[in-house]
Amino acid sequence: MSLEGRTVSILGVTGSVGESTIRVIEDLRAQGVAIGVEAVTAGANVDGLAAACRRLKPRFAAIADPNLLAAAREALAGLQIEVGAGPAALEEAGAREADWVMAAIVGAAGLTPTMAAVRRGALVALANKECLVCAGPLFMAAARQHGATLLPVDSEHNAIFQVLTHPDRVEKLTLTASGGPFLNASRSHMARATPDQACAHPRWSMGRKISVDSATLMNKGLELIEAAYLFEIEQEKLDVIIHPESVVHSFVHYVDGSVLAQMASPDMRVPIAYALAWPDRARIGAERLDLPKLGALTFQGVDLERFPALRLCRQALSLGAASTTALSAANEIAVEAFLAGGLAFLDIARTVEATLDALGRSDPGMIAKTPTSFLEVTAVDHAARREARRIAGTMAAA
Ligand code: NAD
Ligand code: MG
Repeated sequence: MSLEGRTVSILGVTGSVGESTIRVIEDLRAQGVAIGVEAVTAGANVDGLAAACRRLKPRFAAIADPNLLAAAREALAGLQIEVGAGPAALEEAGAREADWVMAAIVGAAGLTPTMAAVRRGALVALANKECLVCAGPLFMAAARQHGATLLPVDSEHNAIFQVLTHPDRVEKLTLTASGGPFLNASRSHMARATPDQACAHPRWSMGRKISVDSATLMNKGLELIEAAYLFEIEQEKLDVIIHPESVVHSFVHYVDGSVLAQMASPDMRVPIAYALAWPDRARIGAERLDLPKLGALTFQGVDLERFPALRLCRQALSLGAASTTALSAANEIAVEAFLAGGLAFLDIARTVEATLDALGRSDPGMIAKTPTSFLEVTAVDHAARREARRIAGTMAAA
């Protein structure tokens, strides 16, 4: 299917990935490529949703917060766009006929609307990593069953996808990590880190949740889990390396000693355009790499003492899929508490670890199994959120 005439939907249109997706579409439309927009969604940002609708002219717009239906209707008045609110409207946005769906809602909240697109066998551009981390095996099985094509947008996974010429001959995958704003910070500095410091990423401009995840390196751990499920590869074959320049987006090592990598400026429009034009490529105006100006690219190992999140993610992955569900849910709660000023930076990973420990003690069977239904996933997710809230509360009080 060619890009010309393709219809798209964007789940999470008001976010950072949503904005980059709009810019890619506008760039292509300016070149005369006809791209229709079926549906867009936002969480609670009515003004952002209205602004996106004026640019994209979708048929349907959904706001997640059910209390904002009237406000959204008012903001979109006169644009001739159907408006919906609440979980059913979000799911409808994924279910509506569009050839290509960008899944860019943050957190486990992205799972149900993304699954609606998967169930009708769409091309699904997957930016939301949490839905794989929280329901990986079920999500992958559903994609296979319904003939959906998953196009990874997370830059590392997109890089791997671009150079995965021989999936059966892979020896190892190496995910690159910028190291975030605290790459060279002392633990005492990290202990006092504020939300704004944690969100000041040196290379990428992103939403606040993923920015905090990048500062703890939880993001890289979530990506390791994402890669394990998405590429169906054992974690022993997954490596992480710090690459502060964020130019090489990941490596695929083959059995003959060849290593293929993809490089680009750190700009999400590059993986988004790749996913949108796949299996072709589209011309877009992202910044070009200036190799002489770059000079040198550097790589270094990860300090697991200062960044324990990576170890926690590996442990969860080896324990069982319910553990990665619980880890992701606990991390969402801990990051929320940190961003609200109610938890210290180093207590994010501590909260996640204590949540997994507590769940493991109270119900060892639950945390080690692989959920066999999305209902089971939701049960684990809710149990982990409850426990994480309790633990974060005691840490905040300490
Ligand atoms: P963001 O916070 O900027 O945007 C999130 C979007 O989701 C917004 O449209 C918001 O309104 C919506 N949303 C928030 N809560 C919601 C809820 N409960 N229900 C429905 N919608 C809700 O996030 P982002 O940085 O664009 O990241 C989106 C996803 O893409 C994340 O899963 C992130 O890990 C992944 N990702 C982002 C980047 C990046 O560069 N920003 C890179 C790789 C992967
Ligand atoms: Mg990434």
